[in-house]
Amino acid sequence: MSDTGVPSYLIPRVSPEAAEFFAGALRGELRIQRCPNCGLHHHYPRLACPHCGSERLEWITATGLGSLHSFTVIRQNGIPPFKEQVPFVVGLVDLDEPGARFIAQLPTVAPEDAVIGMRLRATYRPASDEVAFVDFGPDA
Ligand SMILES: [Zn+2]
Repeated sequence: MSDTGVPSYLIPRVSPEAAEFFAGALRGELRIQRCPNCGLHHHYPRLACPHCGSERLEWITATGLGSLHSFTVIRQNGIPPFKEQVPFVVGLVDLDEPGARFIAQLPTVAPEDAVIGMRLRATYRPASDEVAFVDFGPDA
């Protein structure tokens, strides 16, 4: 367990491709990749654009805003800390930056309040010295 209360088994090992994303999340910034060749964005970080295959990518700071594309409600999980959080919503969030879709927990959205298309904003939850998790909640 780290000092943030996050069990060590949940903290990802940071790959070289993802280092910029996690460093940004620790600062409260949503860093994603953009492809200058096709103009589209993507997340998670990769070595090549998933839209056109170009290996020329740049980092941008996203607005942190998006819309709920789809979601599921997790109702059973026997592993802490999720065991204490069920039921909770996990969403597919279409970021406002075209092409980028993000999977995230929506900890402040009750299952009965989740609506496809609802506007969301990123929030950042430090998990270690190297990693912060990105959640989404209502943009209000
Ligand atoms: Zn591309």
